[in-house]
Amino acid sequence: MTAFEPVIGLEVHAQLKTATKIFCGCPTRFGAQPNTNVCPVCLGMPGVLPVLNRKAVQFAVKAALATECSINRRSIFARKNYFYPDLPKGYQISMYEIPLAERGRVPIEIAGGFPGAKHVRLTRIHMEEDAGKLVHDGLPCSDSYSHVDFNRAGVPLIEIVSEPDITSAEEAYAYLTRLRSILVYLDVCDGNMEEGSLRCDANVSVREIGSAALGVKVEIKNLNSFRNVMRALEHEIARQAEAIKRGERIVQETRLFDADRGVTEPMRSKEEAMDYRYFPEPDLPPLIIEEQFIEEVRRTLPELPQARRKRFIGEMGLPPQDAGFLTLEKPLADYFETVARASGDPRAAANWVASELLGRLNAAKLGIEGSPVTPESLASLIRLINDGTISGKIAKTVFDEMFAGSGEPDVIVARHGLTQITDESAIVAAVEKVIADNPSQAALYRGGKTATLGWFVGQVMKTTQGKANPALVNKILKEKLSSP
Ligand code: ADP
Ligand code: ZN
Ligand code: MG
Repeated sequence: MTAFEPVIGLEVHAQLKTATKIFCGCPTRFGAQPNTNVCPVCLGMPGVLPVLNRKAVQFAVKAALATECSINRRSIFARKNYFYPDLPKGYQISMYEIPLAERGRVPIEIAGGFPGAKHVRLTRIHMEEDAGKLVHDGLPCSDSYSHVDFNRAGVPLIEIVSEPDITSAEEAYAYLTRLRSILVYLDVCDGNMEEGSLRCDANVSVREIGSAALGVKVEIKNLNSFRNVMRALEHEIARQAEAIKRGERIVQETRLFDADRGVTEPMRSKEEAMDYRYFPEPDLPPLIIEEQFIEEVRRTLPELPQARRKRFIGEMGLPPQDAGFLTLEKPLADYFETVARASGDPRAAANWVASELLGRLNAAKLGIEGSPVTPESLASLIRLINDGTISGKIAKTVFDEMFAGSGEPDVIVARHGLTQITDESAIVAAVEKVIADNPSQAALYRGGKTATLGWFVGQVMKTTQGKANPALVNKILKEKLSSP
């Protein structure tokens, strides 16, 4: 049986986080009353002229530098002509032959792979304006009429086009996650897929394993989450492989993903037949980007997730898996880094943040920014464990109280008298009492069944309400049990 492998290239649209639109001064704010963020320019009235937003260019260049693209010193805006009711001008201003930037790359990590093992190459990044939006939900006569909201028309976008370097649905997911993480770190895009600030079209073909030629590709649209990109790709890859096995030929087409049924279906060909008749935008001069401008933007680049991850592994000794997870989102990475520095114990900080804190935050449906425990307080808690003031077990109880808003860990420990018992004589007394109360268990141990030690430790911890220092308990128990 012939085996097939998928070949995938993704086209991602990212909305730039500028305050105003790309060619006019209208606000870009999401969620405003329909058709309130509009003016003659973004509505495409006759006689108006677009003026390029400098901030949008800065953001686009920032994204291009962070993905290692070469910036074209001269790029050209072009008109992409088509008719659709959400497109007031009848054309979209985009870039075509000479885009803003070319030839970049994005590192991806998949489970079990080592960092830096694979990069997805970028073909290009170009700037363009968004179209408006057709809305139906909850509006009058929406079964027979479409309503159109032009608030989004003219919002600045970058389109990031990848080479067909992605070879599984899982890699596509990893690529999107990393790309989103980079854009959000850069603070050029808020990365919110539900609000449409990040959108993705997926191109996929299959070919016989070992073949160098590319198969015929299908473009999938209507993907509104990373998970749906994965689901759509998995379905489409299987569909193409089965069709080829049956002797059919794949037709190049655009398909839509139906998330409810988990399948891709052909778009009606009428919607698809498009000849955009691109030509250079006569109302905008070529975009000239000076070396000095690029250098200015380069200086504003923050430490990127991949660099930070490397540093967490190298400087802090974190396992690669933890470092990857903790650097995906900047607020989480910032939180963790503060805990790690203030506590002086990065590994403990990673454990506390990744399991105890995130577990409680998830259960409370809170993000890291909404954490009731500050990173400084969590660091104090870790220091209390490390200097022997409290045991790790008690620390979890203290943390519960901190999470519920009861204040600083030292205050909670003092209030409940939770300080660890490190006084040997107190532990000796507790050990002796447990042995005296359980003569038959003690006889078993002395008869060679040393596995009962754990049981004894448990009993001593119970009588001390978990406050005895476990290492001391172990040591003293062994002494007392071996000398009758
Ligand atoms: P189009 O002319 O349809 O826009 P492009 O060549 O510009 O096609 O590529 C668009 C996207 O499709 C890119 O992300 C590219 O990597 C991807 N792509 C191109 N050819 C293939 C193929 N045979 N299989 C999968 N993806 C492909
Ligand atoms: Zn406007
Ligand atoms: Mg193309």
